[in-house]
Amino acid sequence: MSIPPPMSSSTSAPISETFTSVQGEGKLAGVPSWFVRFSGCNLRCSWCDTPYASWNAEPKQRGLQDLIAEAARVKAANVSHAVITGGEPMMFTQAEELAAALRNLGMHITIETAGTIYRDIACDLMSISPKLSNSTPQPNDPRDKDAVWQVRHEARRINLDSLQKLIDSYPARQLKFVVSESQQLGEIETLLASLRGWQQDDVLLMPEGITVDALAKRHWIVEECVKRGWRYCPRLHIELFGNTRGT
Ligand code: SF4
Repeated sequence: MSIPPPMSSSTSAPISETFTSVQGEGKLAGVPSWFVRFSGCNLRCSWCDTPYASWNAEPKQRGLQDLIAEAARVKAANVSHAVITGGEPMMFTQAEELAAALRNLGMHITIETAGTIYRDIACDLMSISPKLSNSTPQPNDPRDKDAVWQVRHEARRINLDSLQKLIDSYPARQLKFVVSESQQLGEIETLLASLRGWQQDDVLLMPEGITVDALAKRHWIVEECVKRGWRYCPRLHIELFGNTRGT
């Protein structure tokens, strides 16, 4: 095992949780993975399924050396995929240091991002999930009484420059869209028409919903994927564990 690069022993990051499970979503669904979730997000999706890393962030400062030591133990136990997620991990410079150290440990690294911020980071799969208009908080959302986040989220949720740079810089990538209504397909097509260099099988449609019953009503998404050569994205963790933390 190679030695991680030098790092200040005082470097720490706001972390919501770490856990080992199988990847629930995307091209690597089913792969045993170690997850490290940064706490804090520059968006506030109405349907966010990790509000403890966005709407009600509960960060705990974790030393990066401590995180790397945990990753090394996980790797020694034969889990060699790491998923750096959030919240929005690309908000944090510490994500770069952590990813570089995980790369030195020989781990496969997935970065899960909404694609609003570009960073040059060690990454084997850039998982980009651009947020559609269905993500914007509604005017009556009790978490957003003065509509501050409604305005901020709408202004931030699509950053074409950042999305294009991520597509150009990370050939191993996926573009994952959360959909609940068929009219959102037009929105996705309009966005994709503004971007260059993506492949059809980079595009994944994932049903919105955090219960097995809600997901079961989304069969139409499979038909739309077949028509377009896009992929259907499961939510394995919901099927296996329900909407629970640490899975
Ligand atoms: S970008 Fe992700 S973490 Fe942030 S609010 Fe949306 S779903 Fe939640």
